[in-house]
Amino acid sequence: MGSALASPRRAPTKPRRAGHVFVISSPSGGGKTTVVDRLRRRLPRLKRSVSVTTRSPRAGERNGRDYYFVSEQRFDQLRRRKQLLEWAKVHGAYYGTPRRPVLDTIARGRDMILSIDVQGARQIQRALGRRAVLVFLLPPSIADLRRRLHQRRTDTSEAIRKRLAAARRELACASWYDVRVVNDHLERAVRDVLAVVRTTQQKG
Ligand code: ADP
Ligand code: 5GP
Repeated sequence: MGSALASPRRAPTKPRRAGHVFVISSPSGGGKTTVVDRLRRRLPRLKRSVSVTTRSPRAGERNGRDYYFVSEQRFDQLRRRKQLLEWAKVHGAYYGTPRRPVLDTIARGRDMILSIDVQGARQIQRALGRRAVLVFLLPPSIADLRRRLHQRRTDTSEAIRKRLAAARRELACASWYDVRVVNDHLERAVRDVLAVVRTTQQKG
């Protein structure tokens, strides 16, 4: 048969490799927000997941930027409809990661960063396997953590007391994370996390 009937030759399309999900955990006050903000200034293509929470906004926090602030009823609905990739109760409030933005982003080959607690990190590890890289930010000491929580001036003394009690339990989970980074000197910690992201991206 003539070549005129042959289908036009297409350039072979390379199957797109899925992106990675970088999970950053630490006790409250460990520096997740600060480190992730600085990291994203250096890696503008790294998308940040915006979680849903039932806790009240702190001064300066904006709905849709820092969190989606929702009622318990709405949170329950999202959970029942399987719209959360993971969720947990942390310090008395519910928190969860919207499923679609994460799965769509990595399906397009882009990377995403999640600042979530240790219970959520476990669920992400189970759900995404090798596509998830878990980084634990360690405070230099509990005394430093207490000082940073007080200096941040966003939580009451009672909230700080609860967060420090939880910190001791959370720190015990650092051992099953892929990488541990000590957040002593801020710029050094950012550089260490940046190196984890770059190494992972190079490996593909
Ligand atoms: P998280 O998001 O983990 O709760 P934050 O990023 O809000 O923690 O950090 C808690 C406080 O500690 C903030 O006031 C922040 O500016 C401060 N902080 C973070 N990293 C460092 C560091 N390496 N040295 C000193 N202060 C820090
Ligand atoms: P904060 O109230 O200080 O913003 O967050 C309290 C804790 O909840 C932190 O350990 C933070 O990482 C965690 N957290 C925030 N969003 C999520 C989420 O979507 N899922 C889970 N599992 N934890 C979250």
